[in-house]
Amino acid sequence: MENKKFYLTTAIAYTSSKPHIGNVYEAILADAIVRYKKKDGYDTFFMTGTDEHGQKIQQKAEALGITPKQHVDNVSNEIKATDKLMNIEYDKFIRTTDDYHMAEVADAFEKLYKKGDIYKGAYKGLYCVACESYFTEKDLVDGKCPDCGGPVEEASEEAYFLKLTPYQPRLIEHIKKHPEFIQPESRKNEMLNNFLANPLPDLCVSRTSYTWGIPVKFDKKHVTYVWIDALMNYITGIGYHVNKDSEPEFKKYWPADVHLIGKDILRFHTIYWPIILMALGVELPKQVFGHPWVLTNHNKMSKSKGNVIYADDLVAQFGVDAVRYYCLHEIPFAADGNLTYELVCERTNSDLANTYGNLVSRTIAMCKKYFGDEAICKADTVYNENEENAEHALLSAIDEACKKYHILMDEFKVADGLEEAMKMLRAANKYIDETAPWVLAKDESKKAVLKNVLYNLLEAIRIGSVLLEPAIPASAKKVYEALHTQHISFSDLQFGKMESYNVSSIDVLFQRLDVNKVMEDVLKKEEAKKEVTAKVSSNPQKPEITIDDFDKLDLVMGEIISAEKHPKADKLLVFKVNIGGEVRQIVSGIAKWYKPEDTIGKKVVVVRNLKPVKLRGVESQGMLLCASDALDENLELVTSNLNPGDIVR
Ligand SMILES: [Zn+2]
Repeated sequence: MENKKFYLTTAIAYTSSKPHIGNVYEAILADAIVRYKKKDGYDTFFMTGTDEHGQKIQQKAEALGITPKQHVDNVSNEIKATDKLMNIEYDKFIRTTDDYHMAEVADAFEKLYKKGDIYKGAYKGLYCVACESYFTEKDLVDGKCPDCGGPVEEASEEAYFLKLTPYQPRLIEHIKKHPEFIQPESRKNEMLNNFLANPLPDLCVSRTSYTWGIPVKFDKKHVTYVWIDALMNYITGIGYHVNKDSEPEFKKYWPADVHLIGKDILRFHTIYWPIILMALGVELPKQVFGHPWVLTNHNKMSKSKGNVIYADDLVAQFGVDAVRYYCLHEIPFAADGNLTYELVCERTNSDLANTYGNLVSRTIAMCKKYFGDEAICKADTVYNENEENAEHALLSAIDEACKKYHILMDEFKVADGLEEAMKMLRAANKYIDETAPWVLAKDESKKAVLKNVLYNLLEAIRIGSVLLEPAIPASAKKVYEALHTQHISFSDLQFGKMESYNVSSIDVLFQRLDVNKVMEDVLKKEEAKKEVTAKVSSNPQKPEITIDDFDKLDLVMGEIISAEKHPKADKLLVFKVNIGGEVRQIVSGIAKWYKPEDTIGKKVVVVRNLKPVKLRGVESQGMLLCASDALDENLELVTSNLNPGDIVR
């Protein structure tokens, strides 16, 4: 028997910050491909994870005042939560801080050093002292550090290097002999012509300028620099051992059938990674697939541009399956795709609500209306020409969709595969219009024809749902339940597999959305977010003070004895406050939150030793303490039940 195994990996996400929908797209695509392979009878293994070492992570953690481990725990958990939200069913989530991974990487480094593939040299680069980072000429922005804009200087430090040239001819030969190795194929030529045409420079594989990494066993002041650490996850995650027999899982699943990665990191996966594997004496993966990007308004998403769209926000608006479907249907195989709220809304309406959802709810409603609990099965009858043609068209559409879908999905052309399913469902809706079941229902002699029409539609729905399931698993499952069918694998795809149907009613699968309302809602949420961000960033934590600094403040309890509007300023109120044997006049900008009369009798905290000032012509001798949220939507005077003149400290 042929060994039908399928091992897919995604790139491991760098744990610097929360992933946006463009990052999550890779996991959605991977999940859909694996679900497809599973339905096609493969024994699948799907691995994803996080890349957790490096200087940037160390620096970010320092800036947050937490340890690097705490930081990567947080981000890793956030990524796992997003995967869960998006219904991503991986078999293994590897973290490069996992013990077993770190041990194997350290062993591999040592093995390659002993073999002579790794040697000690000096790393030269342009160094930014403030960022403690090296850059290349290409990285610089106007000759300055790309991160902080500060000056850079030529510097050098001791480092280990991996020789690439000894393996270069073998790699070139491999790429030429295996056209499927680099996909899409256009990228193959880019690698051969741009990067492999000249001798490869040796690859720097260690650093001494930071400590958050896997230590080099025989030279502890070095940590492993990204490549060997990150890339080796693909084999350590399934039980590869450098110095002893590997685990059964590795023997079963390696070589990987596909490394699914973003097109921007194709070079590392098709040059560095194969050479590391050759040096270790491990077989090469069968394929590296560089998927395109998800753009928004045709631009790359980036925090600095402020155009980042997050998966959880999209899901809150449209639901998990609609977001999955959009990403998979709209991002072409080899070209970047575009995502905006409007586009997701339109696609959800046209494909999921109007075509799929509507077909399901209409058909099930008609079954119930015309036949009640009677089983819907194929009945013997004679068709007229119109009925004959319509059925023929539907059956051909189903047949064609199934055939094309398989071919396209096997090439990971998921968008095109889904479109084939959608074409077939559109044909089913057309079949309803052509056969007009509501007319047939009025004619007792057409009862068998009507039953056949409904049976044909239920089969179209069943088959269409099986084809869509890798993209919209939760919705497909609801439909299977309503149809009471277990015939949901690809071997069940032929028309007529279900002998008869007893259907249950079903809730609306996808609500039709009003684009204008959705956009109004989205804009409102975005405004609120921007305001919070602006407030938070305009109100950063203040510098540290000593207890002596704090002691300079003279805080006492006061009781408001009168309050009125400021004669000239709408935002201000003028209070008379008894602070124990003395009454102060205090002007405060809280008119938005308090009516003057509601404040009388409140016992509040007063800053007694604040230098008096005139506010729009009215003298203020002190200040009232308030607490507020980031947006200043809620603000309250700080109060206590103690008496005027009592000390606050
Ligand atoms: Zn810098």
